Amino acid sequence: MSDDSDLLASALSSVGEAEGRTAALRLRDGIASLVLDVGGLSDEARDGIERRIRTALIALPGVREVRIAMTADKVGRTIIAVGSGKGGVGKSTVAANLAVALARAGRRVGLVDADIYGPSLPRIMGNSDRPELKGKRIVPVDAFGVKMLSIGQLVEPGTALAWRGPMIASALGQLMDGDWDDRELMVVDLPPGTGDIQMSLIQKWKPAGAVIVSTPQDLALIDASRAIDLFRKMNVPLLGLVENMSGYACPHCGEVSDPFGAGGAEAAAKVMSIPFLGRIPLTLSIRRDSDAGVPPAAGTGPEAEAFAGIARRLLEFQFSA
Ligand code: ADP
Repeated sequence: MSDDSDLLASALSSVGEAEGRTAALRLRDGIASLVLDVGGLSDEARDGIERRIRTALIALPGVREVRIAMTADKVGRTIIAVGSGKGGVGKSTVAANLAVALARAGRRVGLVDADIYGPSLPRIMGNSDRPELKGKRIVPVDAFGVKMLSIGQLVEPGTALAWRGPMIASALGQLMDGDWDDRELMVVDLPPGTGDIQMSLIQKWKPAGAVIVSTPQDLALIDASRAIDLFRKMNVPLLGLVENMSGYACPHCGEVSDPFGAGGAEAAAKVMSIPFLGRIPLTLSIRRDSDAGVPPAAGTGPEAEAFAGIARRLLEFQFSA
């Protein structure tokens, strides 16, 4: 153990309840990070420990920021937020396929489409059925081994656009508090940018982490860095960056060319000290299959493998503590 982690460990010893619950202590560039096992704790107890750890660590010399990743695997559900700086970068495509890939990796996955500006998951997942009600709770529909709820199943297209804060929060609540039954891992497809849905989700449902989707282009990356800043400021651990539409794979010969460049997001991830989760090429089949309601991650071939790789990296990061 390095001197730095010794320093963190001794500060943590003042937080009695944290004993035996922390792992992966690290102090780098003024950022103290650790993984906190919150298994078996009530929400209040969890919040209390988190607050006391923050207070203890931020008081240390050389610590300017404290990041705590919680392994909520034993209590409730682990929520993974999928965000992007702007629309059209393939955020929903990645969220849907990631959910399918995580389910194929053996997880019980729920998928929430909270993109009020363009709920597209019913189309991408090939299930536009209206969900049923069980008491006051909405029952998710099944698609490719995943259970799903979408804001698009609740309202007519376009209706949600005029919503303001409280209505947005209440719609998100209906989705998040649906009858998720045994789902352990929730993938939440956020609207692009940094608005009310993001704030509600972070404050009320406390995601375990966020995945940011970006194309290799600079413009999208500048937008992406705003989304990244929001999660950072709100202490949501950044699980990683996915580079989508990275290189174009020719449907005839398979040769990969780079109409928008490639590697931009990976380089940016490095600069911003965010894990890089992987790249998804721009392919005709991803577009066609998504429009046809058959997520490529459910099939075989290079696209399915690309999503499976990202799911593997995500699971490694999140549950390895
Ligand atoms: P966002 O959620 O960021 O607005 P979508 O996931 O709706 O973006 O994707 C926008 C469009 O781009 C859709 O038509 C989708 O099928 C297509 N698309 C997304 N990713 C890829 C990809 N890797 N290759 C080809 N088309 C893609």
